[in-house]
Formats: sequence, C-alpha cells, structure tokens
Amino acid sequence: MSTWHEYVQQTGKVPEWPYPINYGKVNEIISDVLVIGGGVAGLQAAINAAKLGVKVAVLERGHAKRSGSGGAGVDHWHGAVTNPCSKVTPEMYTNACYNSSRGWTGAHVRYIITKEGWDTLLECEQMGIQIRDVHDEFKGADFRDEKTKLMFAYDYKNRHVIRVWGWNIKPMLYAEAKRLDINLQNRMMPTALLTAGGKQGNRVVGATAVNTRTGEFYIFKAKATVIATGGSAGRLAYFAPELTASGAMSDINGAGVGQALGWNAGAEFVNAEQSGHNRLSGLGYAPYSMGGAHNTYHGTPIVDADGKEVPWNDPFGRELKTVEDRFLPQPGHDFILGEGIGIGPYLQQFRSNELCNSLVDRILKGEFKLPLYADLSRLSENERRVIFGMMVGSEGKTRIAVYDTMTKAGFDPDKDLFQTPVMPAEGYAHSNFWGAGVNAPANMRSMGGGAFLTDWDLRTNLEGLYIGAGGNLYGGGCHGESHTTGRYAGKRAAEYARNAPEPVVDKRQVEKEKESAYHATHQSKEGNGWKEINGAIARIMRDYCGKHKNEITLNLGLRLLNELKTTEMASAYASNPHELGRLLECHSLISVGELVLKASLERKASNSLLDFHRLDYPAMDPPEWNKLLPIRQENDKVKVRDLPLDFHLKAPYAASYEENYKKHAEN
Ligand SMILES: Cc1cc2nc3c(=O)[nH]c(=O)nc-3n(C[C@H](O)[C@H](O)[C@H](O)COP(=O)(O)OP(=O)(O)OC[C@H]3O[C@@H](n4cnc5c(N)ncnc54)[C@H](O)[C@@H]3O)c2cc1C
Repeated sequence: MSTWHEYVQQTGKVPEWPYPINYGKVNEIISDVLVIGGGVAGLQAAINAAKLGVKVAVLERGHAKRSGSGGAGVDHWHGAVTNPCSKVTPEMYTNACYNSSRGWTGAHVRYIITKEGWDTLLECEQMGIQIRDVHDEFKGADFRDEKTKLMFAYDYKNRHVIRVWGWNIKPMLYAEAKRLDINLQNRMMPTALLTAGGKQGNRVVGATAVNTRTGEFYIFKAKATVIATGGSAGRLAYFAPELTASGAMSDINGAGVGQALGWNAGAEFVNAEQSGHNRLSGLGYAPYSMGGAHNTYHGTPIVDADGKEVPWNDPFGRELKTVEDRFLPQPGHDFILGEGIGIGPYLQQFRSNELCNSLVDRILKGEFKLPLYADLSRLSENERRVIFGMMVGSEGKTRIAVYDTMTKAGFDPDKDLFQTPVMPAEGYAHSNFWGAGVNAPANMRSMGGGAFLTDWDLRTNLEGLYIGAGGNLYGGGCHGESHTTGRYAGKRAAEYARNAPEPVVDKRQVEKEKESAYHATHQSKEGNGWKEINGAIARIMRDYCGKHKNEITLNLGLRLLNELKTTEMASAYASNPHELGRLLECHSLISVGELVLKASLERKASNSLLDFHRLDYPAMDPPEWNKLLPIRQENDKVKVRDLPLDFHLKAPYAASYEENYKKHAEN
C-alpha cells in the first residue's frame, strides 16, 4: 500500500496517528548556536557557524531537506555584484535599492548582501550546485561569459544577476549540514524564545518547542540564536489557509512564528505597519505555470489570439526595436536591478524593460484579442532553451509541475504557444500574468516590509539574537540574498557564542511555556479547532486592519484579538500533535496581529511607500513622519522610538558603508 487513497480504499478507514504520542516528555538540546528555521538562510547560518568550530542545532518546522520558499529550487541569484564579469559595485547596488525605496529599506543589509553574495554562491558551487554552463550548452549566447561560463539574466551588459541550475540547492545544503554534524531537528514548533531570567528584553538563551509528530517538549539551550523562519505571516488574513495560504508562492508554515518569538521576547521591529494588497496565493494561477513575460520568463514574446505581438518598452516609455534590447540597458538606464529583490518601486534608471504598459487599455479597446500566448518560438534558440529548459527546469516549483508535465505531454517551445491566463483586463497590468490584484479580494492585505531591525552584525536589540532571512529581515531580499544574510548571521552568532557566558535557562519560564503549550490537548472535544481560530484571526485583521484604518478600528482589532485569547482560543482543542502545532501557530498569528495593529497605531500619518492609509491622518507622506518607528515590548508595554531612515550610516556607526562593513565583517 503506497498511497493514502489505497490505504483508505483497502481498510475502509483513515489511518491511526502513526507516531507514539508523549505529551509532556522533556528533551534538552544544548548547542552554542541555535538556528530556528532550516530554510536556505537557516541552513547557511548553521553551516557557517559550524565551520567556525561551534556546536550548532537547527529547529525546523517541516523537513530541512526541502522546506521553505527556496526548498524547491531557484533559477537566478541576485546581488552577486562582485562576480568577475559584473560592472556594478556594492555601493552602486546598495544606493540603487535605497534610493528606489526612498530610504525605506535596510541599506546596511543590502550592502552586506552585495559584498558577500558572490562568495556565498561560490561556496554553493563547492557543495555541488551548478552555477556555470560547464557542459557548454549555451556556448556563444549573449548572456554567457565565455571565460567563466557564467550566465546572466535581465541585464546582459552589467552582468550581476546570475542564472543558476538551482533545482537541487536545498538538498545540497542539507547534505553539507549533515556532513558538518549539525543537529537537525525537524517537525518542531517553537513556542517561545528563552531569555535570561525569563525577562522580556534580556539576553536570548534558547527556545522551547513541541514536536509535531510525538508531541514531546523540547528545551533548546544555546549561547546564541539565529531566527531564519522566512517571510511574512501569510496566514494572517486568510480564511481556509490550507488552500489559500498554500499556493506556489506561499507556505502554510509561514505563520509569522519567527516574528512572534522575537516580539514576545522584546525584539525591535520596523515597518510592521506596511502592507500591500494581497498577491493572490492559492486564489490565483500558480506562478510560472502559465505563459508570462516576467522574472523566469523575462523577454518572452507575447502574442494575441491573431498572432499579433505585444511591443516591449524601456522604462522611459520608448518602444524597443529588437528582442536583444529587452536584455540590455537603454539610454537613461544606470543598470537594470532585476525583478524580485524585495523592494517595491524602482527608480526609472534601474527598472527592467517590460511589455508595454498600455497593454490593459489596448486589450479593452480591442487592439489585442484574448487569449494572449507566450510565443517562445520567436526567440533565438539560446534564449528559448535557457527560459523553457534551464530556468523553468530549475525554478522553485516549476521543474516537475510545469517543465516535466508539459514536456511529457508533448509541449514543444520551438513551435507550440503557451497560453496565458484569461482574466479581467486589469490582470494584464503586470507581465507575470498571475492575476495579482484581480484574483484576491481587496480586503485581504499581506504584511509588506515589516521585519526585525538589526545592526551591522545582523543582531537585534537583544543580546544573543541574530536574524538571517529574506522577508524577516529589514533590508533582506530574495533567494541569494537569504543565503548570504544567513551565512553572515551564522558567522556573527558563532563569533559571539565563542566568548559568551553559559546560557542559564529560567525554570519558571520553561514551566510556563510547557503548561501553555499543552493547554489545547486538555480541552473538551467540543472546542474550536485551529482552522476556526485562524479564520477568526483573519476576520479581525481583514476588518480592522485592512487598507483603510483609523484609531477606532485599530483599537477594536486589538480588543478582539485580546478577547479571542480568553474565549474561543482558550477552549480550542487539538486532537493530535499536528493540530497542536497549527493551533500554537495561531498564538503566533495573534502576536503578529498585535504587532501590526500596535505599529499601525503609532504611525499617525499616511505613507505612500508603506501603502499605509490612516483615515484619521489622511495627509500623505508629511515630511515630519519620514522616519522609522522601531517598536518593541518591555514588560508587555509598547516602547517606540524614532530612527532616521539612514540610521545605518549614523552614530554609533561609521559614515560609510565600507568602514562599517570592515569593522563588523572582517574582524
Ligand atoms: C516558487 C518560488 C520561486 C522563487 N524563485 C526565486 C528566484 O528564482 N530567485 C530569487 O532570488 N528568489 C526566488 N524566490 C524567493 C526565495 O525562495 C526566498 O526569498 C527565500 O527562499 C527566502 O529564504 P529564507 O531562508 O528566508 O526563507 P525560506 O526559504 O522560506 O525558509 C524558511 C524556513 O523556516 C521554516 N519555518 C517556518 N516557520 C517555522 C517555525 N515556526 N519554526 C521553525 N521553522 C520554521 C520553514 O519551514 C523553512 O524551512 C522564490 C520563491 C518561491 C516560493
């Protein structure tokens, strides 16, 4: 019997819980460095800490071999600006990100990424990941450098985004972590960070967790801790998250647990008030599963039902004359940054060449007839094969679902058209054609850039707590960037741990965590389950913290979240360790919801970059509010301070990127 269906058909019943349940059994795991989250950032943190000779444990919610957004693969690596072919410097790239974001990104993190992204990629190559065209499949292609055999995306002149065969990147990192004897603990749901004396704001000395198979309790004791649990709290505004938060770009484990752990321990966050219209997740088309012209499919010709081709423009509105131009900077460009690096708008001089932005109007006027199709046959052979082959074959979640399935079904990019979704015309405003903005209800918002605030060591305000991540780190980016910040945070955590005093765990804090962790297992079976609780949280966040908010709605949201804790949540029931894990995630969602609502109350001004709309403070972007508002908890009370956007170059830091980097990374 190999499948669920076979089992149910043959036995006529669903299987029993397949693991021994030992609620309350305590296990202790001691390490120098604890990494929470075994994604690409987390495994890099663990590997690089271990390489410095310290003992490392990883606490992972899923299974670290394939878990996380980066688990299924990657096709292009951003920020490798020190590669031998690049014409972009770390300063140029950092300034491009910072200025494009009008200052609303952690530029110190961007600088670290650009200083070390290429070195990190070289280490991946050492682990067995193919980063060059070693088999000469693309010899002579415009995007290939003949000497190094590196291949580039988006900007073939400035050559800083590298195409990689990253379909196996996660298993390779996992194998490296095993080789280094890292203690990998899968299927764990963390409940709290442990702090010295059990006090908010004190040094972090580990974490507690519940195993979601056996239900056993774990105390992780560590001198330093790295949080690397990935992006934002996807489930915060979703009903039925097992469907809607589990699309190709989301992860049901993305319940904001990392943020909640930090928030409850007293760590500082910035921009938690930032949000955006929800992308779509399980409500739209699986990303890259349909024809498109963006990201992996950048440069792909799009034709209408009559075969008429949609023109491409440069960011300055000029129509491009050739297909080659789509991959080259045009007059007025400094260089092309490339798509998907975790910043919102780009300044024109860094934006990609794109399908003409009048496409929606021209569809409505009947100039282009639906459906549209990707016509890869109009590309040169090298461009066609690198997109539908190397990239679709390496990109997360498209290797099997799209490349294998379509190829086996007979799709031939040399002659076949690849249909794009048929959707309301507004959906064609973005050339990825995922239907963002038309498939998700308008009141579903997702957290934007809100994340942990860190210093030049990627350390939080809490002693012993470091962050390595994409979305969870203020200034973090995408895949390559997450490897790089994980690697950096792991090293800094290990350096600290080498000389740090032994961690002392507060017994009362552990007992309190243990008691609350199992609370739901003692409740009546009549109690709500995690799905209902998650639904209630989503209802509150949608209604009271949607696009338009004011002091009254935000305070109501806080009141309702608080009431939920003592009503339905207090009597919620978990019938097995899996449900317990999901329910514990709901506790985290409430914490993150509170963080978002409280941060939103503190910003008494609307802000266009944060997509933040206060009805009671409608004036957009008043200059006196052009500042970060780091927020944390002390004795469960909110503490907020002002911080200039360029804090990373102000005292106590040095005035230049290079000086700060040298002081922190090269000691
Ligand atoms: C389909 C897809 C394609 C992409 N393609 C690209 C690309 O080509 N180029 C690019 O630059 N970026 C790409 N990205 C983005 C990139 O994958 C992410 O930016 C990157 O993986 C973030 O790394 P991370 O380690 O911070 O998070 P993740 O890779 O998401 O890892 C987070 C880890 O934390 C674990 N975790 C979560 N909650 C808990 C918890 N409570 N306790 C313990 N562990 C927990 C997760 O299971 C996971 O292992 C893509 C993303 C997706 C989804």
